[in-house]
Amino acid sequence: MSFERTQEKLKILADAAKYDVSCASSGSKRSNASKGLGDATGMGICHSFTEDGRCVSLLKILLTNYCIFDCAYCVTRKSNDIKRAAFQVQEVVDLTINFYRRNYIEGLFLSSGIFKSADYTMERLVAVAKKLRLEENFNGYIHLKSIPGASDELMREAGLYADRLSVNIEIPTREGLKLLAPEKNREDFIKPMVKVKNEIIQYKSEKKIIKSTPKFAPGGQSTQMIIGASGESDQQIMWTSNYFYKKFDLKRVYYSGYIPISYDARLPQIGTAVPMLRENRLYQTDWLMRFYGFEVHEILNKEHQNLDLEVDPKLGWALRNLDQFPVDVNKAEKRMLARVPGLGMKSVHKIIEARRFRNLNWEHIQRMGVALNRAKYFLICESRDFERRDLTGPQLKSLILQNSSSKYQNILSPQLNLFD
Ligand code: SF4
Repeated sequence: MSFERTQEKLKILADAAKYDVSCASSGSKRSNASKGLGDATGMGICHSFTEDGRCVSLLKILLTNYCIFDCAYCVTRKSNDIKRAAFQVQEVVDLTINFYRRNYIEGLFLSSGIFKSADYTMERLVAVAKKLRLEENFNGYIHLKSIPGASDELMREAGLYADRLSVNIEIPTREGLKLLAPEKNREDFIKPMVKVKNEIIQYKSEKKIIKSTPKFAPGGQSTQMIIGASGESDQQIMWTSNYFYKKFDLKRVYYSGYIPISYDARLPQIGTAVPMLRENRLYQTDWLMRFYGFEVHEILNKEHQNLDLEVDPKLGWALRNLDQFPVDVNKAEKRMLARVPGLGMKSVHKIIEARRFRNLNWEHIQRMGVALNRAKYFLICESRDFERRDLTGPQLKSLILQNSSSKYQNILSPQLNLFD
């Protein structure tokens, strides 16, 4: 295989992989100083987080962008007129080792279109991971996409060689999936998730007894949903997430704003803006559910089926529940402090620690890095000043928006941080 052909395949299959956000992507600017294979500049390098929280750069590619399916939202769908390519198993192994030795990457994120069948494809994904581990003695991070419908045996093997496995549920609702990918079946996504969950539990419990038991997918499993392709509400999306987190013990659900790639009448048309801000608000809600003790129904319900794009979901919730505020910073339970807009969990812990020794006032709180521009309307402290006065939720919202930095004013900015 010529260097040029491999380069061409890499270009096609790294480009096709960028639509999968299950590992947060960002281009690497590392260029090839020598004559070696691969210039990592923009060529499929992304960053992800390992089990212990380390950020690692990964070679992110598809094994192939041939596919027997025709999912309307996917650039790889069989009816799409695009350049196709497929790597051999050994080519992916060689590329990974080559990039790894040059310090471009610390691991591999490997997904694939489905050629021939789920098992045929999964077999090849597993073969890459197996060769890397057993023949190349590769100890870097491996994230494998599981192919819906793949056999239990292949899923088991995949977990023995990969750090993380993921199956993309793609469309948040069954109805949406039926509309946009009628050949697909939600059960085909669920079956491998069940298998992975059960194997993780079993291997963990065996390891407690037999120390030599290998690890099974130590980074757990994750999934991804495409947002805005099939008209679902934020409430439906977050209930789906909640279900998958709870039922399959997922490490992460990723939300990927739909990028219009087709003139299919079932989809938002080309030129429609990618819902970046909505994606960001969904991540914030996900964060609230996982780390701040919120339940989905508190944030999204029959009366509020979609998130307010103007304010983060915690502030949105607080504005609708002013009867629960102000919270006394010197007395409130951790659960309630965590619900104060502008207070991140780090600040909550600092407050709880500091108030053991003294009563806290505004100055103390500010020094802890709390975003007082929001928090001051929901807290009282030693000074007894309380900023809300008798404003209603909408009045308070408009006051906060008026006094806020561009984070709230420019609601179309895709550069919002995950809130504190
Ligand atoms: S099966 Fe996967 S790769 Fe193939 S068209 Fe559907 S979403 Fe795309």
